[in-house]
Amino acid sequence: MNAPARTTRAFTQRRRPRGMPVPEDFAEVELPLVPPAAGQAVVENLWLSVDPYMRECMDGDWELHAPLEGRSIGRVVESCSAELPVGALVFHREGWRTRAVVNAAEVRVLPRYEGVAPQSFLGLLGGTGLTAYVALTRIARLRAGDTVYVSAAAGGVGTAAGRLARLLGAGRIVGSAGSAAKVRLLTEELGYDAAFDHRAGPGLSGQLERAAPEGIDVYVDNVGGAHLEAAIGAMREHGRIAWCGAVAQYNAGSAPAAPRNLFDLVEKSIRLEGFLVSRHGDAQVELEEFLVPHLRSGRVTDRLHVTEGFERTVDAFLGMLRGENTGKAVVRLGHDALEPSADPEPSCGHTS
Ligand code: NAP
Repeated sequence: MNAPARTTRAFTQRRRPRGMPVPEDFAEVELPLVPPAAGQAVVENLWLSVDPYMRECMDGDWELHAPLEGRSIGRVVESCSAELPVGALVFHREGWRTRAVVNAAEVRVLPRYEGVAPQSFLGLLGGTGLTAYVALTRIARLRAGDTVYVSAAAGGVGTAAGRLARLLGAGRIVGSAGSAAKVRLLTEELGYDAAFDHRAGPGLSGQLERAAPEGIDVYVDNVGGAHLEAAIGAMREHGRIAWCGAVAQYNAGSAPAAPRNLFDLVEKSIRLEGFLVSRHGDAQVELEEFLVPHLRSGRVTDRLHVTEGFERTVDAFLGMLRGENTGKAVVRLGHDALEPSADPEPSCGHTS
């Protein structure tokens, strides 16, 4: 019988960054793992998510020298909860570490959809896909034939928004991304009708006008700042903006100048609405019912940008902030085939 390991490797934050974070802002540490109490389980993490919001957490929400948090998929290897059987694949938020003790009440046991990889619950079927789905359906209320513009279009939310917009009946779909290679990918593989490179020089408005000469009806804003201003300028009457994020400002230290054309919202009867996906958890079932058949049939594939190895989690995070990812940035910890250690014997303590 194997004694379950009682340690975990984890990343902590050593100091607050100024501007773009660097590897020295983080530390990899080994920590003891307390035995699970009643209602808890030990999970071996298989996949970790790295996300732009984490950059904002680094400025204050994350405690220094404590294990960081993030979405993760893992397998239960020891359990003191009937709801979390050994071997179950679960979604939880104790990321940035190799193994974690989780509370049953805070964990989702993942459904098994034949033909759908579990890591999709960090991609199209996870918070990333849900953000794009909520943006298009609930916030922008996409209508058949609408022209849609998506910024950071080659990223996680952006690739999901392009695919979902097509499935939901959008007309022309245009995107912006940070390199010529990404632009090619958007139009050749990811279903975008037109795309442009926002790093190719000044003139976002001109680039957007050429990509969508008749204007746009819906904007999924992942970037903010100058992208938002260009989109407002290109909007048709009664356009809708679903404001997801402002990645242009997360490393800037200060917010970029507000769009100078905000009064266009009045003149063109445009609706601009921000949202947090965490307030739309009730749309998760709807998303799965809608997308799983498309994932199974192969009509849609989930594009994950995979970094191999727990020790490279910081590289994956910083690379995503620099725009090195195409699709949702995730880390694979390298034990996909992990099975529960032979008949692990739980030593369940009591919850305090
Ligand atoms: P992502 O798009 O996969 O990765 C971030 C991307 O941002 C990079 O690949 C990079 O692509 C782009 N970027 C970085 N700096 C930029 C800059 N200065 N100007 C323009 N683009 C820049 O990340 P994601 O997880 O899918 O998130 C996308 C956005 O959605 C973020 O703003 C995030 O905060 C937001 N979000 C919001 C919610 C919500 O609940 N509202 C939930 C999830 C995500 P390029 O190479 O193309 O520049």
